[in-house]
Amino acid sequence: MAPYQSMEEYNISVTNEVKDRFSKIIDEIGEDVKRDGLLKTPERAAKAMLFLTQGYKQDAAEILKGAMFKEDYDDMVIIKDIEVYSLCEHHMLPFFGKAHVAYIPNGHIVGLSKIPRIVDVFARRLQVQERLTHDILECLNNTLKPKGVAVVIEASHMCMMMRGVQKQNSVTTTSGFRGQFEKIETRNEFLKLISSDLS
Ligand SMILES: [Zn+2]
Repeated sequence: MAPYQSMEEYNISVTNEVKDRFSKIIDEIGEDVKRDGLLKTPERAAKAMLFLTQGYKQDAAEILKGAMFKEDYDDMVIIKDIEVYSLCEHHMLPFFGKAHVAYIPNGHIVGLSKIPRIVDVFARRLQVQERLTHDILECLNNTLKPKGVAVVIEASHMCMMMRGVQKQNSVTTTSGFRGQFEKIETRNEFLKLISSDLS
């Protein structure tokens, strides 16, 4: 899996529009857009922004459908510690952390690398952590139709750390459970497995 592969193609007119706006922002905050170090900054910032929001152009359900296999395995499948990098929709500042995803197959399994990919598809949009959790949960539930799905995300928010309340060490945890994970014993087994360091 290569989560940081660069975008193959940037739409030139969109990139130029975003670039011009970044140039204006840099000017408005009192910087000199013509100074050496900043000459290519609007273009770099535009490409970075388009990369970080490329999830709008991607279809998570299609990615899953492309790698579903018939299989009788019906124990819990857990992918833990998936790196998450997203942008909060309130400040457009990063929030980042880890996602833990589990499902109990119901006749189909999905290629393991697809789970981190769909996390990226939803993370690379303007998000709130609650909706990101829910998007991943519902996509897996509706596409794979498993016996159960669980998603837990633990993340730090730059908008809290760098500004506002300046709480550097607070981590926000969100979770969602469907199907068999709504049963307390299944949910507890999952929570125990993701909090252990055995791997
Ligand atoms: Zn924020």
